[in-house]
Amino acid sequence: MSSDCRVAIVGGGIGGLALAAALEQRGVDYRLFERSAQLGEIGAGVQMTPNAVKVIRALGLLDGMKNVGFLPESLIGRNWKSGKTLFRMPLRGECERLYGASFFHVHRADLHELLLSGVRRDRITLGKACARVTAESDGGVVHFADGDSFRADLVVGADGIHSAVRKSLFGAQQARFTGHMCWRAVVPFDAMPDFVTPDSSFWMGPNGHVVTYYVKGGRAVNIVAVLESRDWVEESWNLPSTREELLTAFRGWHPNIQKLFQRVGTTFKWGLFDRDPMENWSAGPVTLLGDAAHPMLPFLSQGAAMAIEDGYELARALDQNADIASALRIYEESRRPRTRRVQLESRERGRTYHLASPLEQFMRDFSYRVRNFINPHKGGIKANWVYEYDATATPAALAA
Ligand SMILES: Cc1cc2nc3c(=O)[nH]c(=O)nc-3n(C[C@H](O)[C@H](O)[C@H](O)COP(=O)(O)OP(=O)(O)OC[C@H]3O[C@@H](n4cnc5c(N)ncnc54)[C@H](O)[C@@H]3O)c2cc1C
Repeated sequence: MSSDCRVAIVGGGIGGLALAAALEQRGVDYRLFERSAQLGEIGAGVQMTPNAVKVIRALGLLDGMKNVGFLPESLIGRNWKSGKTLFRMPLRGECERLYGASFFHVHRADLHELLLSGVRRDRITLGKACARVTAESDGGVVHFADGDSFRADLVVGADGIHSAVRKSLFGAQQARFTGHMCWRAVVPFDAMPDFVTPDSSFWMGPNGHVVTYYVKGGRAVNIVAVLESRDWVEESWNLPSTREELLTAFRGWHPNIQKLFQRVGTTFKWGLFDRDPMENWSAGPVTLLGDAAHPMLPFLSQGAAMAIEDGYELARALDQNADIASALRIYEESRRPRTRRVQLESRERGRTYHLASPLEQFMRDFSYRVRNFINPHKGGIKANWVYEYDATATPAALAA
């Protein structure tokens, strides 16, 4: 890519910052525009699986991740009522051996700050909302809500599930309500409580599941509590909720879940939306990344991880190809099949986690036990193929 190529990134979330950090590392010029007046992230946790951690390491940010992250012992499936272990996938120590990187739990604000440390602040403009983009013969133009515009050789929409860039390229299409809503909360603790084990725990119940794990180096527990819901009538996609509402929704679940929920202070409930995989992400010198391209259910914990992988692979394709069209072709050829599979398998996990009939639950749990006995890394949530991937390895197309 010629050294005077300039990239405009719309959106300063995890995906936009990962791309900016990867471009910074390769010396490619970029500007990032974020609509919020302040950079930051919601108060929630995020699981950084080995595939994402390989990119974090390649960006030179692994030491920072070790400082803010928590290394879980195992990923455990549990019965919602009895707490009985349905499967156990050892993580600590094993992930390095099997997948070449660790598995971390991290607070989103810490992850955001970490990625930001790889980006030059003078390349970021805050309070700049993209209204639309136009593709022209010599580049793309970002048109802002305040009337300003910015021209670049490439425009990347990293502006999330309701992406304005996507709408400009492919027309307005509502995201699909998936039939799930969830509560998110982070509960601080002075010391690790005895009713939350140091694992990523998936509590599976009829028509819902709860995921709990430590963040902030073990000083807080992140909760994601999902329930099936036929309609999500509110216009806003996240709403303040209360501890009482959460406790009522999960009445009858295991006492350890009740104890944890009783300590919840602030909590929000969210409608979970996704979209079908897209046939292409680019139009001329404009492309998409992260949730703008492939919003997915969080049931394999991969939305942010995929956005991080996208950012790294797009920066490398731009660095290693003579023109933007070739770079975008290589980027899409690598990223679309992988993100498509993760999107579709995340939907499927929702069905298996939430089986309501006792017979179906019995058959699922029996198969968990058998698979766990044969190979715990290929049982449970069956995510080994996600974790094995290494976005930092040179793809065959470039190695030729
Ligand atoms: C309950 C739940 C749990 C999850 N858990 C995990 C997990 O454990 N692991 C994981 O990998 N993923 C997880 N995810 C998914 C993950 O949160 C998302 O996939 C990820 O945040 C997507 O990053 P992004 O940068 O593409 O988009 P976003 O995070 O949505 O960022 C988009 C950015 O663009 C900005 N923006 C939007 N519109 C404009 C505009 N018009 N102009 C300028 N800026 C704009 C926004 O302000 C924002 O800063 C979870 C999601 C949910 C809902």
